[in-house]
Amino acid sequence: MKKILKKFILIIMISWTFCYSVSCTSLNEGANLNDKEIQVSGNTSPEQLLVNEKNVLSKDYEPSNLTIPNIEFADGVSPEEKHIAGVIAKPLEELVRKAKDEGIILLGNSGYRSYKSQEKTLNNRVKEEGKKLAAAYVAKPGSSEHQTGLCIDMTNKDKYFVSGTKEAKWLAKNCYKFGFIIRYPAGKKNITGIEYEPWHIRYVGKTAAKYIYDKRITLEEYLKK
Ligand SMILES: [Zn+2]
Repeated sequence: MKKILKKFILIIMISWTFCYSVSCTSLNEGANLNDKEIQVSGNTSPEQLLVNEKNVLSKDYEPSNLTIPNIEFADGVSPEEKHIAGVIAKPLEELVRKAKDEGIILLGNSGYRSYKSQEKTLNNRVKEEGKKLAAAYVAKPGSSEHQTGLCIDMTNKDKYFVSGTKEAKWLAKNCYKFGFIIRYPAGKKNITGIEYEPWHIRYVGKTAAKYIYDKRITLEEYLKK
C-alpha cells in the first residue's frame, strides 16, 4: 500500500514539475533569440521609438513623466491605463478638444500598460483560450507599443470604435495634425504584424505624422527598419 502511495506522489511531483516548466517557458517567450531589445535613452525621440515583435522593450522600461491627461475616459479603464507618457499629454488633449468642437466625442480607453500587466493579460488569456489563440490576440510582454506610453486606444460612447463610425473616420482624417498616426492601418499587417486597429493612435510628432499620413505608410516604413 505504502509503495503505491509513494509511486502516486512521485507521479504527481513529476507531472507538476513538467507542467510548471512548460508554463514558465510560455511566460518567457517574450524574448526570442531573434528579438532585438531596444536601448532607449533619454535622447530617443518619440518618432524613433519602434516597438514591435522584433524590437522589444526591456522588462524595466518605463516612459518618463507618466501622466493622466485631462480627457474623458470610458468606464472601467484601470488607473494604470489612464496614464500616458508626459510628452503626448498636451497633443492628446488638443486632439480630443478639437474633435469635441466638431461634434465628435472621443474617450480614452487604454494608454500605458506596463510589462508586468501585459504579462498578466497574456497569462490570463492563455488560461482562458489556450496558448495559440492568446498569442494571436495579445502582444508578448515587451513587444506591445503600449509600454512606451506614446500610444492610446480611443473609443466612443458605444464602445464600438470600428472603421466607418464617425469617430473612427474623424480620427483617421485628423490625428496627424496633432502628431499622431493610425499605427496599424488596414492592409499593412504584413509590415506591422498587427491587424487594422482604427482606435490605436501613436504619437510620433507633427512632422513625421504628416509625412506618414501623406504617403500612406507605416512607422516601420518611415524608419526603414
Ligand atoms: Zn492599442
